[in-house]
Amino acid sequence: MTAFESICEKCEELLQPYLDRELDESERREAEAHLDDCGYCRKRYRFEESLRRYVRSACCSEEMSPELKAKLSSLRTPLA
Ligand SMILES: [Zn+2]
Repeated sequence: MTAFESICEKCEELLQPYLDRELDESERREAEAHLDDCGYCRKRYRFEESLRRYVRSACCSEEMSPELKAKLSSLRTPLA
């Protein structure tokens, strides 16, 4: 255990494919179960979800200013 606020190693392993809908049925259930009892992943999941939604709508409108892009890429850096 480190002093870092409970960083979860499952996070990258499960969360990214989960968000990208790349998991099969049993893997998805595992991910959902994990999200249920891991605060870090839950936080991370909500963040990634809203980020994705935001990026999608920003891309569709094609009104991404350089400032916005810079802001997004700074958001992109890991929370940890
Ligand atoms: Zn986790």
